[in-house]
Amino acid sequence: MRPALLSALLLLALALPGRGARADDDVTETRPARRAARAEATHDDLEDEDEGDGEREGRRRRFDYSRFSDGPRRVPEPRGASQRRAEALGLGTTQTASRLFHAAPDPRWVEAARGEMPEHLQWPVELGRFGRGFGYVRRTRPDLRHNGLDIVADEGSVVRAVADGIVAYSDNGVRGMGNLVMIVHPDASVSIYAHNYRTTVQPGWRVRRGERIAFVGTTGISRGPHLHFEVRRRGRPIDPLHLFDGRPWIDAYRAWRAARADGTYAEPTDHLRADLPPDRGPAAAGGAVASRSPGRAAPVDGDVGEVGFVRRLLREGASAADLEEVEGRHFRNVLWPVRGGERLRREGRGLNVVAEPGAPVRAIADGLVVYVGEELRGLGKSIAILHPNGWISLYGSNAETHVEVGQQVLRGSWIARVGDTGGGRAHLHFQLREGGEVVDPMELLVQVPDAI
Ligand SMILES: [Zn+2]
Repeated sequence: MRPALLSALLLLALALPGRGARADDDVTETRPARRAARAEATHDDLEDEDEGDGEREGRRRRFDYSRFSDGPRRVPEPRGASQRRAEALGLGTTQTASRLFHAAPDPRWVEAARGEMPEHLQWPVELGRFGRGFGYVRRTRPDLRHNGLDIVADEGSVVRAVADGIVAYSDNGVRGMGNLVMIVHPDASVSIYAHNYRTTVQPGWRVRRGERIAFVGTTGISRGPHLHFEVRRRGRPIDPLHLFDGRPWIDAYRAWRAARADGTYAEPTDHLRADLPPDRGPAAAGGAVASRSPGRAAPVDGDVGEVGFVRRLLREGASAADLEEVEGRHFRNVLWPVRGGERLRREGRGLNVVAEPGAPVRAIADGLVVYVGEELRGLGKSIAILHPNGWISLYGSNAETHVEVGQQVLRGSWIARVGDTGGGRAHLHFQLREGGEVVDPMELLVQVPDAI
């Protein structure tokens, strides 16, 4: 490789967004409001539209915050006993919201949050899929922490309370959040639901786990219908994924796929009914949730996430229908999957990259995680990613995995850690295939790995 070309590629690699630890600077929290009546929360959600082939990655776009609108405001008018309770407790104002973004809730609010705190939270959108996780995961602004979880669903999908509590805020006065609900729970944690099409609860209402509180929308700073969901303790956001029982987003993804495949899936239209009561109608009852749980559509072998699906991809390649689900940039070259991977030896259909136990494993290009599990023989904990150009990359022998089925990953994303699979040196087993054929990744490297 010519030196000039090599250094250009090195520069490109350096320009790719990093994933390392960063200053604990929570810029998406509310800051002292420039306009007193409005809390501020710079919150840029589901950004990252395709910018081309990755060669221009260094030129990151910034969202033009001057063009966003939090409206239209669609929230129920306060009335009745809950209105009186909200006024007595000081709920429902932008000051309420601002406090909950920064600090522990007022003890009186926690006391008013009747009910029980369950061991696990309820998944808030029945067919809502994993959109983006917690942490420094943004491509356009890798320096901004994403304080919650983005759950992708059609506009109008029902948003449900994850646990019992009292509605502390239901309005659209927090910049970037659109129509927003905040619930204080009996253990003093706060759950936050942003970008709703409309909210269906008012401050002071006591809600039960599973009760409808809003409909999914794209109000505020948002690039498409989704729920931005946060959990805070004493004003600090925490990663909510481990608070759920198992991995409900995988069930949701499978149920959504299965319902679409067999024609039973219909886009939600509840929100289009002008006469929709902003109250606890039959659809709002927590009891309705059990019979509509995401598990009802049984996953079939051959569905995304099942080992049958990834075996077919490895054997036959991806069909046009498979690729429809995959987002991201098309790459013609691959990133070396282990930073600092020292040596390699060819084994079977792939490469074993020798590395330190626990070394981060990276996605070689943008793609969709289609398998995470241990059912592929001889590969231990493994991950398969389907790429928009039809490549399938396979990462085996990991100590731990850090992605979920249905997650879209970017080139360079940290997806796993290298494992020490007994006996030999720790290594990543890596395979690249296209159309059922083994592809030699050494021919496609964007950068020559260290010490090879
Ligand atoms: Zn978000």
